Amino acid sequence: MGQDNKSLSFSESVNFMVDRALTVLEIDEGISAAIKACNSTIKINFPVEINGKIEVFTGWRSTHSSHRLPSKGGIRFAPIVNEDEVEALAALMTYKCAIVDVPFGGSKGGLLIDPYQYTRDDLQRITRRFARELIRKGFLSPATNVPAPDMGTGEREMAWIADTYKHLHPEDINYAACVTGKPVAHGGIRGRTEATGRGVVYAIREFFRHADDVKAAGLTPGLGGKRIVMQGLGNVGYYAAKLLDEEDESKIIAIVERDGVLVNDEGLCIENVRNHINEHKTIKGFPDATFSEDGASGLEIECDILIPAAMEAQITKENAERIKTKLIVEAANGPVTFEADNILRQRDITILPDAYVNAGGVTVSYFEWVRNLAHIRFGRMERQHDEMRGTQMLQALEAMTGKQPEEWMKKELASGADELDLVRSGLDDTMRGSYQQLKEVLDSNEKVDDFRTASYVVAIQKIVRSYIDIGVY
Ligand code: GLU
Repeated sequence: MGQDNKSLSFSESVNFMVDRALTVLEIDEGISAAIKACNSTIKINFPVEINGKIEVFTGWRSTHSSHRLPSKGGIRFAPIVNEDEVEALAALMTYKCAIVDVPFGGSKGGLLIDPYQYTRDDLQRITRRFARELIRKGFLSPATNVPAPDMGTGEREMAWIADTYKHLHPEDINYAACVTGKPVAHGGIRGRTEATGRGVVYAIREFFRHADDVKAAGLTPGLGGKRIVMQGLGNVGYYAAKLLDEEDESKIIAIVERDGVLVNDEGLCIENVRNHINEHKTIKGFPDATFSEDGASGLEIECDILIPAAMEAQITKENAERIKTKLIVEAANGPVTFEADNILRQRDITILPDAYVNAGGVTVSYFEWVRNLAHIRFGRMERQHDEMRGTQMLQALEAMTGKQPEEWMKKELASGADELDLVRSGLDDTMRGSYQQLKEVLDSNEKVDDFRTASYVVAIQKIVRSYIDIGVY
């Protein structure tokens, strides 16, 4: 399987993982090749004037699959982006969407830039120019290809992209659906920013509802009190850590960031760490923990759950033997390489894979896209009605029993769901339902004994179905 001393590229790593599932499924070679192939990748070089000097920027957008449209996936702004990475990430989007039943193909984009070196105005001009190129070349529209935030981008960049599209296509009544992850005031949806991190936590909670899986991983029941190491306190890691710390009462005992690692065996207060980072631009100097500059060693701290939420290829054949956790939850895309995955599986370390774990982002992007096409906020039509129904039920109960309902009953029964409630419940339902699909494969197919292979089996079965139904032409 091509494993000499040279490390595999990101795309090769993803493809080898997919191959494992294809072998289990005994899929026809032609269809396998069609599923794995990346449909198209565009590379764009474009000039922008910065401080009176012309700079040329390079960006990519890759469409891995379009069996469902639009193709969907984030755009990252990072100083290390390349074509192979963008294609690997686009492939992961294909499988991710299939696993969580989001009816999209897979895509991804990247711009080679260190966004922190530019002013807001410069970034705006660069983003708008990149978006214009993508739109003109058919790589961005509500119907065919819809970007979203990723590393180094957020709702601000998405608002610029949507506005650029609107100016080029004012006649497109669905212009707002050309990108997701927008600010709420510009067609975004409540709960999108936290969605990936929240989805990670819903995935972990669902895992802990399955006593047999928890036991097989060598963990004691219950998420409360579990010792967690989190790598990355960016958008995904922050929300995941915050919820685990505040709602699940687990202990984040270490946070690994690019400049080192913070450790406190009693558990770190995520909000305080985040405030410290915002203020000082580093985790160094945080008062309630020990700090070491050797961030990589943080991944090797003994813990119950290790959550890589930063970049790809963080657990490799070099450090996989030294990882001392029972459960790895892949909040980032591709944090464990194929070679490391083999080592970890041999060591019986359970891995909840990226294509399932971090699919909460694209799930809520799907809700946003639907909201944009519907041109109405979720809950707007029914909220009052539901509240009235609840109040009437309480009155009926009171009339029948002669007893006053308790305060909590009034609060719970007589409140209608708003958009955030609906988004969270749709996300939770998706993460639970998808876990159960993986579990079904694990329990029914003796050739599958890990969650990653199960996730690819689930995805590939759905994609193959769509190829067979539609045919290749
Ligand atoms: N960039 C996110 C991901 O990797 C979100 C993609 C989306 O919402 O389209 O899943």
